[in-house]
Amino acid sequence: MICGPGGVGKGTIASRLSAKVKGLSLSRSWTTRARRRGEPKDSYYFVTRQQFEDAIVDDKFLEWAEFLGNLYGTPKPESDAHTDLLLEIDIQGAKQVREKDPNAVIILLIAPSSEEQRHRMELRGDNAETIAERVSVGQNEVAEALKFADKVVVNDDLDRAVSEISSIINSLRSAGTAS
Ligand code: 5GP
Repeated sequence: MICGPGGVGKGTIASRLSAKVKGLSLSRSWTTRARRRGEPKDSYYFVTRQQFEDAIVDDKFLEWAEFLGNLYGTPKPESDAHTDLLLEIDIQGAKQVREKDPNAVIILLIAPSSEEQRHRMELRGDNAETIAERVSVGQNEVAEALKFADKVVVNDDLDRAVSEISSIINSLRSAGTAS
């Protein structure tokens, strides 16, 4: 599982990894957030709050969290022994998965600096208020996540970070640990 604060590049890295590493399937989350301009339609299942709340009642999520007023959740995976499931989630979600599945491997992705994280959010068109809020929430969350993450990867360069995580996955597989 890849976790980290908003604007750190988790989404880009997760989709690169699922294309590059064989036998890895990327979980698609549900969200009540509106789709951003230019954001691919399949980056989430975009649902209404009512649909999301119904799914909570029906126990459809492995984990879910509220982040800055929107709900995000990972649907329970369909059992498929042939692939490792790659989750791309925030730090609150990673903590819940860790509690439910002590064998889950948590890779914490961090930005090289908060300036870089802010810059990425500006590029994707987030407004200034959201960015300030996300950067400050992110700093507290990273401090928390450092306590339970199995590996920490700095996203200083996309290709390098993708290679580092691919090597981590490969060595976990040779050691017989699921990702
Ligand atoms: P964004 O709105 O920028 O797409 O996502 C906001 C935050 O929610 C990001 O940190 C993202 O990783 C996280 N997130 C995305 N999907 C999930 C999910 O299924 N569960 C949890 N807990 N967080 C998620």
